[in-house]
Amino acid sequence: MYNVKSMKAEEFIDYYEIMETLDYAQRNRHNRELLNSVMEKARLKKGLSHREALLLFNCDISEINEEIYALAKQIKLDFYGNRIVMFAPLYLSNYCVNGCTYCPYHCQNKHITRKKLSQEEIIKEVIALQDMGHKRLAIESGEDNINNPIEYILESIKTIYSIKHKNGAIRRVNVNIAATTVENYRKLKDAGIGTYILFQETYNKESYETLHPTGPKHNYAYHTEAMDRAMEGGIDDVGLGVLFGLENHQFELAGILMHAEHLEAVHGVGPHTISVPRIKRADDINPDDFTQGIDDDTFAKIISVIRIAVPYTGMIISTRESAKCRERVLELGISQISGGSRTSVGGYAEPESDDENSSQFDVSDNRTLDEVVNWLMKNNHIPSFCTACYREGRTGDRFMSLCKSGQISNCCLPNALMTLKEYLEDYASKDTRNLGNVLIEKEIENISNPKVKMLAEEYIKNIHKGQRDFRF
Ligand code: SF4
Ligand code: SF4
Repeated sequence: MYNVKSMKAEEFIDYYEIMETLDYAQRNRHNRELLNSVMEKARLKKGLSHREALLLFNCDISEINEEIYALAKQIKLDFYGNRIVMFAPLYLSNYCVNGCTYCPYHCQNKHITRKKLSQEEIIKEVIALQDMGHKRLAIESGEDNINNPIEYILESIKTIYSIKHKNGAIRRVNVNIAATTVENYRKLKDAGIGTYILFQETYNKESYETLHPTGPKHNYAYHTEAMDRAMEGGIDDVGLGVLFGLENHQFELAGILMHAEHLEAVHGVGPHTISVPRIKRADDINPDDFTQGIDDDTFAKIISVIRIAVPYTGMIISTRESAKCRERVLELGISQISGGSRTSVGGYAEPESDDENSSQFDVSDNRTLDEVVNWLMKNNHIPSFCTACYREGRTGDRFMSLCKSGQISNCCLPNALMTLKEYLEDYASKDTRNLGNVLIEKEIENISNPKVKMLAEEYIKNIHKGQRDFRF
């Protein structure tokens, strides 16, 4: 029985509720009156229920579809401006005891190169990432209590935060590790993590169990209820995601929105981010073996509908997607992207030799961070290396209430410009620096609060003189 406030996975992600939602959305896809009333609600920019969102997703009236895309673009602009926050993944270890059928790190894969970074190797990776200009990382590790126990993850986080190379610093470490206990989440919280990210992969329990035939991840309820334990352990910001291509995409869209509704209903704060990865080729994984892949148009519509349904939740896209695809979806609602990523273990400090392969997936966007930053600016986006909220204690419901009142925008734009200025001074190529300085001059005029504008101008001058780490 569907119950948004239940703490049981099968009740807050109720299979029958999803099936009824898909049926309702399918039956009403030409229902102009109903679609118009949902669009009217959507224009209030306060979000939609999973049923309303699925209805918009199914809409097949072309002019209303145009309105859906236009509204997604407008919400993106109203809530996130033209800023795009930059991050990079850092793979610590690809040892894994699970049998996930879509990931080359599954334990039956005997030919992938297994690696686990030592603390000395992490230092080298982080220096390489700092030298690129990154300030925000997402650490990734397979599940393996012997090779990658929580103590290893905690020690690695401490190491990462401790490295200050030249003007570099990693100011926010997000963590993408397997579902764990409340006690371990508390330890992660105490280690000062940013967002705890855990992809659900699929919300369809039966498929989930087939796709995860062995290992602790096989337990659907333990995995699906992980975010509740994370929040119980004091982690304010959690990141959801599904791997599109494993199951029917509409099922996943309904599932992820129901998960967001559940977190909001129980903890008073929805997910901080939603990631939208699509299954990609990797070592022994062939995406053609999965029959539920989605094309770029479907992908764009999913992103638009998520943007409208949960306006306050950031949306992340990785280098799994090509530059062309990323360009299209950035304006529809994406607020964070990775750049210059390596998906191998230890790949930043030393590229792998031809006979090694420890990557989790093949990167489609192979450009350097400088090239991505340059490209973003040429496409009228502001690359931002901001990490201010977490460091100012603006997390969880505090962050959400600032978002909902619109006050956060007083911080985001100046912080984006100041952190971009740091990047330009320390890491950018000449062309990117010139482009960026022109952009900063233009965009600083858009800071609406005169006092904040004056301070931002002063701080940017100080950054040019060599000072670092200003924030609002
Ligand atoms: S998806 Fe995660 S848990 Fe599954 S095999 Fe890959 S690293 Fe291990
Ligand atoms: S000010 Fe906060 S919400 Fe805005 S970009 Fe920085 S960290 Fe994100």
